Amino acid sequence: MNITTEPQLQIILAIHLILATTAALILPFLVSANAEHNLSTLANHDPLTQLLNSRGFYSIANNLFNKNNSEQSLAVIMLDIDFFKRVNDEFGHDAGDEALKWVSQHLKELFSKTAITARVGGEEFAILLNHSSLNDAQLAAEKLRKNIKQYPFNYYGNAIYLRVSAGVACSNANTASFKSLLNIADKHLYVAKKTGRDKVIYNSELNPFVHKQTVSI
Ligand code: GH3
Ligand code: MG
Ligand code: MG
Repeated sequence: MNITTEPQLQIILAIHLILATTAALILPFLVSANAEHNLSTLANHDPLTQLLNSRGFYSIANNLFNKNNSEQSLAVIMLDIDFFKRVNDEFGHDAGDEALKWVSQHLKELFSKTAITARVGGEEFAILLNHSSLNDAQLAAEKLRKNIKQYPFNYYGNAIYLRVSAGVACSNANTASFKSLLNIADKHLYVAKKTGRDKVIYNSELNPFVHKQTVSI
């Protein structure tokens, strides 16, 4: 071996040693960070639709609500597919699953850049719009309802017509918690269901059904 190359060889060996040691030290951290990330994704997402699940949704929503100051409003849309049980009964559970994915696709198309979307229950979805007015949230919910209604979902040549109902609520300076905001949206969704479905309710004061309920209490 040429004596003049020996120092170079030693440098190369030293570099290799440093690189190998660094990789051995860092790799376990990378692997565990990746595993942690995968676990967190699994825990917070719905495997059928890849939307957030209720755990992921409420965690993000609560954080946003607590971070916002009283002038920054947070709007929520609760959406439920109308008579969804009939899809399962008539076309089978797999058709129902595909229909859930189809509705999720509408949510992703309309809201992926502007809002947080989740499947929070069987055939129930939630959309969170940060810094949104009640009017904007109501218009967004109407657009979603119309988009879903516009064309049938095609399942092996069967045209399945889906309809949805939605309840909308928006926070203001008096909103105590995200949970209380959600309760209002849920109440509006309930009114939408009770008054014929296939509609968006954002202000139950306007609804004669709610007045009747209030009077009777
Ligand atoms: P409404 O208009 O009052 O909401 O009527 P609905 O039939 O949509 O509501 P209901 O609560 O009576 O039925 C919901 C159905 O959703 C029953 C359940 O089997 C079905 N479902 C819930 N989760 C899933 C799912 O992951 N996949 C499928 N295929 N069906 C599901
Ligand atoms: Mg339903
Ligand atoms: Mg439901």
